[in-house]
This record gives sequence, C-alpha cells and structure tokens, in this order.
Amino acid sequence: MSQPYQIEELSALVEASAKAGDEGKQHHCQHRTDCMKMIELVLDGEATPEQFEHIRKNIGKCLPCEHGFALEKSIKDALLLRLERKDVPPTLLDSIRTRVAKL
Ligand SMILES: [Zn+2]
Repeated sequence: MSQPYQIEELSALVEASAKAGDEGKQHHCQHRTDCMKMIELVLDGEATPEQFEHIRKNIGKCLPCEHGFALEKSIKDALLLRLERKDVPPTLLDSIRTRVAKL
C-alpha cells in the first residue's frame, strides 16, 4: 500500500513529544471531533496531505491530539496483529471507536 505520507514519522514525533513533557501544550482541543476524524483518516492512510499536515502541526502543541493519535495507533496495531490470526468483528471495532471518541 503506497501512501503520500509517513505514519511512522508521526508516531516518532508523538513519542518524542511525550518524552519532552506537557509543558506549553494545550490541554483542550477546540477541534476535537475534527482532529479525531483526521487522525483516523491518517491512520487509515486516507488523509489528504493537508489533513496530515494539520495533525503533524498539532503534535507538540495539543495534548488531546497527541494522546488520541497514540491511542488510535496502538489500537490499530493491536488489531492488525490479531487480524493476522483471526477475524475481528466490525462491532468490536465500532465499540473501540466509540470509547475512544468519549475520552
Ligand atoms: Zn487538537
């Protein structure tokens, strides 16, 4: 699957930013719903370069976006691993998404 951007680049940024601490970052995202949608698109490999850039710029500035990305990414990774062995029901995916959206 070819993507015009690198998800792993964002993961590395989030990791580095998390180590740097919460200093100077906003604790509330005013665009939470939009940001989470974009994070999902990015992780699905379906985001536009503009959407990718928006999320990239939020890393290091917006805590909810950082945490949201890290959580979504880890869920996705875990599910991909499980998918290699057996099917994950779509209802499970939906319930995880709902829980993440309520964080
Ligand atoms: Zn944000």
